[in-house]
Amino acid sequence: MTGPNQSITPREAAAGSFDIIIDIRTHGGSTPTLPGALLITAHNLTSDPARFIPNRDAPVLIVCDIGMRSLTVVEQLHGAGYVASISLEGGMEEWIAQDLPVVTPEGLSTAEFRRYDRQLKLPGVGVAGQLDLQRARVAVVGAGGLGTPVLAYLAGAGVGNLTIVDSDRIEVSNLHRQPIYTTQDVGAGKARAAASFVKALNPEITVTPISERLDSSNAPDLLAHHDVVVTCTDSFDTTHAINQAALHHRIPMVFGSVYRFEGQLGVFDAQNGPCYACVFPQHTGGTSLDCSIVGVMGPVTGVIGGMQAAEVMKLLTGIGDPIIGRLHLYDSRTQILDSVHIRKNPACTMCGLLTP
Ligand SMILES: [Zn+2]
Repeated sequence: MTGPNQSITPREAAAGSFDIIIDIRTHGGSTPTLPGALLITAHNLTSDPARFIPNRDAPVLIVCDIGMRSLTVVEQLHGAGYVASISLEGGMEEWIAQDLPVVTPEGLSTAEFRRYDRQLKLPGVGVAGQLDLQRARVAVVGAGGLGTPVLAYLAGAGVGNLTIVDSDRIEVSNLHRQPIYTTQDVGAGKARAAASFVKALNPEITVTPISERLDSSNAPDLLAHHDVVVTCTDSFDTTHAINQAALHHRIPMVFGSVYRFEGQLGVFDAQNGPCYACVFPQHTGGTSLDCSIVGVMGPVTGVIGGMQAAEVMKLLTGIGDPIIGRLHLYDSRTQILDSVHIRKNPACTMCGLLTP
């Protein structure tokens, strides 16, 4: 039974506008499809449409080979209340016959749908957000108290390319706050041990361990071709070197630090707010935050590291508002999270030199 408004010709579809285009064919990612189309099987789509179509009124174009199965799927979708879904008449055969534009499709494998199921259900993630995460390149500088939770969550989320920069070796005194390492790992290099953990957690992603100390001389090279850098170091000098390279590459820097029972969190993006040096000028130096001297409560690094990972995911998917222009202050003794507004310093020697 074909109702009205259940199919559309290729010419009409090419002239139309759709929130989502779904190609339900199952023969892999090498077959040309419509630009912007997501590969989702008919079974996955009809068993849980809300996972892929967040809004029931959203115009959705369903595509198959010749327009038969897509029509069946559209009938099912209409029955489920997705009344703006429509089938491509004649399918890809007719689309290609009319010489309309095609691309090689992108999509998620069945294994990826299973792995990321709980995340795919989030408003704003879905297949498109997951693909954003999978295409992303994120550098994590420091694989210690902050870096280990950051890496665990980003790897779990499927951030496709992770670079881990750390020259240190694992010490037994690290283990109270660096839960991806075990007692057996003591003595191993952190970058490599963290990379092994990441690969074991999620074999789908690419991880690059760099067992070097980042400084201002190598930071621009190490951080080139990344979308976001996460600072998980207790060194002011290293953080300033990362800030400088982030400014150079025009990428946001997700900053975290801990001091005994307290932590700080910020997202510095000089295109839209202050840079790290606007708030913490280099000449102020600062007291040492070295945990070996002042001590640190382990879970504080997990709280701040978890929030850093969330900020990275927000930046990569466009969900929510990254905390640009604010510095969050957390105190585990009271469990109070306070926030300070921070502004660009017109006299900043770092981002002040940036050309617009
Ligand atoms: Zn600045």
